[in-house]
Amino acid sequence: MINLEELNLKKTAGMWIGGREVLSKTGKTYELYDPATEGSIAEVTQGDSQDVDLAVSAATKAFETWSHLGPRDRAKKLFQFSALVRQHKEELSTLETLNTGKPIRDSQDEANGVADCLEYYAGAVQKYFGETIPVADQGLDFTLREPIGVCGLIVPWNYPMMIASWKFSPALAAGNTVIVKPASLTPLSALRLAKLALEAGIPEGVFNVVVGPGSTVGRALAQHPGVPKISFTGETQTGAEIMALGAPFIKRISLELGGKSPNIIFDDAQIDLCVESTVFSVFSNAGQDCCARSRAFVQRGIYDKFMEALLARTDRLRVDDPKSPTTEIGPLISMAQRKKVEEYIRLGVQEGAQVICGGGPPKNENLKKGSYLLPTILDKARPDMRVVREEIFGPVLCVIPFKDETEAISLANDSEYGLSGSVWTRDIGRALRVARSIRTGVLSINSGHSVHLEAPFGGFRKSGVGRELGLKALGLYTEVKNIFIAEK
Ligand code: NDP
Repeated sequence: MINLEELNLKKTAGMWIGGREVLSKTGKTYELYDPATEGSIAEVTQGDSQDVDLAVSAATKAFETWSHLGPRDRAKKLFQFSALVRQHKEELSTLETLNTGKPIRDSQDEANGVADCLEYYAGAVQKYFGETIPVADQGLDFTLREPIGVCGLIVPWNYPMMIASWKFSPALAAGNTVIVKPASLTPLSALRLAKLALEAGIPEGVFNVVVGPGSTVGRALAQHPGVPKISFTGETQTGAEIMALGAPFIKRISLELGGKSPNIIFDDAQIDLCVESTVFSVFSNAGQDCCARSRAFVQRGIYDKFMEALLARTDRLRVDDPKSPTTEIGPLISMAQRKKVEEYIRLGVQEGAQVICGGGPPKNENLKKGSYLLPTILDKARPDMRVVREEIFGPVLCVIPFKDETEAISLANDSEYGLSGSVWTRDIGRALRVARSIRTGVLSINSGHSVHLEAPFGGFRKSGVGRELGLKALGLYTEVKNIFIAEK
């Protein structure tokens, strides 16, 4: 990890519009804080709808050339962008850790993930084409995949650069231009990526970043007539608002929203693998993960053994300074987020759940400052409790026992969300039956991983619409045009 001085975080970081780093029209700025120390790390310009207008003009102009570049030429620039991300991995991951409080080794993995994502779509777009269709009329019928135009990409604070890359990589590869709106708390990595994109030879105006509140900049993008596609990740309520704002324009919308994912553990689960995965699938990134398996359903026959192993492993998690390479869990994004999660823990206790580990900030002297919260397990949870039904977005796991397969499926599906989940069993028939019955967009059997760059990722029900990643996402950044040529 490189130090703060080397990062050269000059006073007032600007946003990137039309290939230039600019300050907002209003001249407003705001401060960013390190969640691990609560110390100030940078001052950033704060944009509003006027800056969105400028970015839309720049991106619209750039679309004329970028969209007409052949896929191979666009791909070359994306490969170059990816190479620069790898070269600047230490800088990007340090920025991300300072800005989010996530452990440095996670930030390093995420920087690699950004580079991998760019490479995947640079490769994919060269092999992505339409179809010829044998229609009844005499002639030739075929489809083209065309870029949509200017894409507004609204990104949350939990995985700032990685989630941004899931959106801008397919968007750019398909020939669109983009305006990234990072979360106000975590704009630094997106700003750095905009500069790297230019250095990679991506023309000015193709990759823009506008910083500012969701209530102004985010809304302005969502209701701008010059932005035909919005891709958003964040809270379900915000997603619903964005959908409504875009409705009069019939915008193309991709939403990746909240989750309350189930982790179903049958009696025959391989307990060591399952415990290790359970711990990380709910507590990593301090639980601020839309895929967090925050509801564990454990079959009665294995309950005591599983809980003993789970407690022991949770106890060994290294909650510490995110700058240390051995840290597994860092602070939450902010004191406000910690307060929100602590309120949920209190509510769970009021509702009758029992805190069997964690439950508050660590006692260590060196972690007194910062928004740390110990990984928390709530035993004796019930399906009707708010802590079991609502997305907490913090390191809190609710555990509920079950009797048999039917009950496990019914408990898992008793949620308004449907993002991801896991099933642990060595019985392949049961694994497939349960996987087919669970109403989520992503499901892992004997694994806690939800995200694979090459495979579609997204949710059923209130967890979203559309998909990120894989060829599905590339398709969602294109329009399909059907052409028929008569033979006569
Ligand atoms: P939001 O959904 O409010 O924010 C996500 C992004 O949308 C940010 O860039 C935000 O900007 C922007 N935004 C906010 N309001 C609007 C709007 N009306 N129109 C357009 N864009 C908007 O989530 P928060 O970051 O505020 O977090 C709130 C809660 O949401 C968390 O406590 C957590 O529970 C959940 N969450 C869920 C995520 C998930 O992946 N499922 C990710 C992040 C949060 P700005 O940062 O300026 O507000």
